This record gives sequence, C-alpha cells and structure tokens, in this order.
Amino acid sequence: MPILAFVLGSLIGSFLNVVIYRLPRRKSVVSPKSACPHCNVLISGYDNIPILSWLILRGKCRSCRTRISSRYIFIEIVTATLFALIAWKFPPVTAAKALELVALLYLAAISIVLAMIDLETHTLPNRIVLPSYIIGSVLMGASAIASGDFYSLGRAFLGAAVMWLLYLFMALTYNGGMGFGDVKTAGALGLFLGYLGWTVLIVGAFSAFLLGGIFALGLMMTKKVKLKSGIPFGPWMLVGAWIGIFLGGGIAEGYLNLFGLTQGI
Ligand SMILES: [Zn+2]
Repeated sequence: MPILAFVLGSLIGSFLNVVIYRLPRRKSVVSPKSACPHCNVLISGYDNIPILSWLILRGKCRSCRTRISSRYIFIEIVTATLFALIAWKFPPVTAAKALELVALLYLAAISIVLAMIDLETHTLPNRIVLPSYIIGSVLMGASAIASGDFYSLGRAFLGAAVMWLLYLFMALTYNGGMGFGDVKTAGALGLFLGYLGWTVLIVGAFSAFLLGGIFALGLMMTKKVKLKSGIPFGPWMLVGAWIGIFLGGGIAEGYLNLFGLTQGI
C-alpha cells in the first residue's frame, strides 16, 4: 500500500507542480500541455514521467538543454513520500478508514500547493482553501456515517471553529504577516485535525507556532529579517499540522504514560 501511494503521490506531485506555477498566474491548470518555458517545445509523454524524467535528463530540457528547476523533482519526491507515509500510518482497513485516507491524501496535496504558493506570493488562494471545507466535510462525513462515529465529525467542526477564532484573533491583534488567508487556512486545517482527535489538533496548532517562532528567531539573530516584516506563516501552519497528524496521538500517549495513566483521550 505505501509503495502504491508513493507512485500515486509522484504522479499527483507532477500535477501539483503545474498548479503551483499556473494558479497564481491565473492560468488554466489543464491546458495547454506542459512546455519548456525557454524554448516552448512541448514536453512529450516519456519526458514527463515523475521523478525519473528529471533524473534521466539531468534536470535539463531535451531540446534546448536549459536547466529545469530542481523544484519540480523536489515537489514530486515530497508528495510521493508524504503519500507513502500517510498510507503506512492510516491503512484503509475499513470503508471508514479508506475515506479518512482519501481525505488525508487530499489534505497533503493542497498542503504542498498552499505552502509553495505562500512562500512565493505570500497568499493562500481561496480557490484552494475554500473547496477544502466542503471536500473535507463530505469525506469525513461519509467516513463518520460508515463508522457510526459521529463524535469525530462534531469534533472536526469544533476544531475548525476553534482554529478559525484563534487565527482571527491573531490577524486582528498582530499586524505582521498574518492575514485572512491564514485564518481561512487555519479553519480548514482545524477541520481535518479535529476529526483525528483533540491531541492531534493541539499538537498540530502548537507545532506551527514553535516552528514559526524558532525560524523567526533564527532570522532575527542572523539579522536577515527585521521583526514583523512579513515572513509568511502559512508554511509553518501547514508543516505544524502534519506534525500533529503524524505525532499528535503518540505524543499524548507518551505524556499520559509518564503519569501512569493508560486511559486514552
Ligand atoms: Zn527547452
């Protein structure tokens, strides 16, 4: 299953590259076909194999030999690896779990797109963020119906509301690099994290501030960026969320074991 997810992830990653490049430039993500940005020669099918083509061509266009950014293979490898890890951590053993897996793979795809676009343009596009509320609700709602665990679904909506309010408060009080794109993205992440559990939500939210804080401190110490100069927070929020998804349950368990408690949350 993780191997299958890796292959699927590399293909999806290839498509995410197109989305990351074209969406902020208001271009269609389906047409025209991919072409070399330098010589405009269309990229043929056999040169469009995720990961492998970039390696075979050694990162250069076949016709004009212009360097192709290593970002393309990076995104493909990251997507493939993340997909494999998700499939390994959340195996689709029941119909409910299979729907949960689809929801998480979808979240992984949009997380990568949002992080990259935010790094480049300092925006988190509504066209990616807003549909995730609906798609997430539908997939997790279907999963809840399949498992009969409606408590998780309620927790998902509460998670979305809590994250939304938390980031709204920060956007209104702290006027540096935190905008409404962050508020909407936080709400969407709260939906998915909340569905998985309270500890996943808490660890996910806390990790974002920890990572963002360490990074901002590092930049200030090396005097590269002055405080409040607008370092995008989106990527930290997204990476933090995934730390929560992968480690949230385990961290809570370790904490409870420390106090000799065995009851789960
Ligand atoms: Zn070319």
